[in-house]
Amino acid sequence: MESLRIYNTLARDKQVFVPLEPGVVRMYVCGMTVYDYCHVGHARVMVVFDIVQRWLRALGYKVTYVRNITDIDDKIIRRAVENGETIKSLTSRFIDALHEDADALGVARPDLEPRATQYIAQMLDMIGMLEKNGYAYQGSDGDVNYAVRKFANYGALSGKSIEDLRAGERVAANDAKQDPLDFVLWKQAKAHEPADTSWDSKYGRGRPGWHIECSAMGCTLLGEHFDIHGGGQDLQFPHHENEIAQSEGATGKTFVNYWMHNGFVQIDNEKMSKSLGNFFTIRDVLAKYDAEVVRFFMARAHYRSPLNYSDVHLDDARNALTRLYTALKEVTPDASELDWNEPFAQRFSAAMNDDFNTPVAIAVLFDLATEVNRTRDAVLARQLQRLARVLGLLVREPRVFLQQAAGAQDAGAFDVAEIETKIAARQEAKKAKQYAEADRIRAELLDAGIALEDKPGGLTEWRRV
Ligand SMILES: [Zn+2]
Repeated sequence: MESLRIYNTLARDKQVFVPLEPGVVRMYVCGMTVYDYCHVGHARVMVVFDIVQRWLRALGYKVTYVRNITDIDDKIIRRAVENGETIKSLTSRFIDALHEDADALGVARPDLEPRATQYIAQMLDMIGMLEKNGYAYQGSDGDVNYAVRKFANYGALSGKSIEDLRAGERVAANDAKQDPLDFVLWKQAKAHEPADTSWDSKYGRGRPGWHIECSAMGCTLLGEHFDIHGGGQDLQFPHHENEIAQSEGATGKTFVNYWMHNGFVQIDNEKMSKSLGNFFTIRDVLAKYDAEVVRFFMARAHYRSPLNYSDVHLDDARNALTRLYTALKEVTPDASELDWNEPFAQRFSAAMNDDFNTPVAIAVLFDLATEVNRTRDAVLARQLQRLARVLGLLVREPRVFLQQAAGAQDAGAFDVAEIETKIAARQEAKKAKQYAEADRIRAELLDAGIALEDKPGGLTEWRRV
């Protein structure tokens, strides 16, 4: 089998993956700050790295996958105070919700799920090492900061110099910092904050900065030097840049060999944001779409590409997944295992080894489904099911999925291909001056919740209403 290649953000290139210890992979992914429900962007991080860890295991590696939980932070404190509850009560509730969402999406639990508040001692140890090595100082306001200018490689991950960063970032002026880019390692507690939000330390009572949390949890659980660190693209700077500066500044060792970042989620080609009113939680989406359809939709995009969420794309994903399940209609379970030497499996595996190229791997599944439909070959059908299951797809009894999908079709009427066919038929009717027929098609689509709009140049656009 070809070896696995991973796009390493640090190298800006695909590199052959060589683990530090043969046969073993240690991977850390930045998890959620638990003060609210997870949104579609969180779903993508969870699904992307779930597929990464599944593929590493399929290759035979023994994987330790850590995804942390940030359970202390300004937003958490603010929300708990607003609600009049303890941070423990607030964060436990949203950790339960996170688990429910992840389970629904078929995301396996990470091997370790450390919570920041359980690692305060290790964070303080690391801050102590940074102070000893000359990278940390306590400002006049009592906060302990990291002196970025002391770390020679600062900016290597994001590919920026300190000068670029100073010019490009809006950094708040703060007299207590030696440089505006310096970031906080330990924040002094404020008098009005509840007692359960701070810890005693030699720097005074306070709480850790966000960046030191991941450095301390990663080094404690995976060792000071480990294989893969992942997260959303938005974490590249400053969060991951700061993690490198902290971990390497404290230990003097390389922190991570491969940095992986997944692309943004957009909604109808726009950035998802609360102010634009296009912000969706995983719960909002799962109220409308089957969870496996959502997972399939995410898997069909390459993890580094932006993912454009829209109802049209989700409808299309449902139809495509239905095609795969239809090919499994007659499959009967047996005890045989996936045959990696079979040609479709080899193509699938080559795609996955090429930086987890799931869109190509899923295209192989469609080719295989076509072959199953043509030959009715039960061995190939089982092969399709097993390959898809490597990605956490086609996990249900085909009949159960198909019945549900048929129900959704009745409610949601036409799929995209049917709509396009009907629009083409209406264009033909108009060309032939059969206006009654053209109107009939328009009305039929409208009954099914599809509104048409004729544009200059003979184009017709449609949208769901
Ligand atoms: Zn992190």
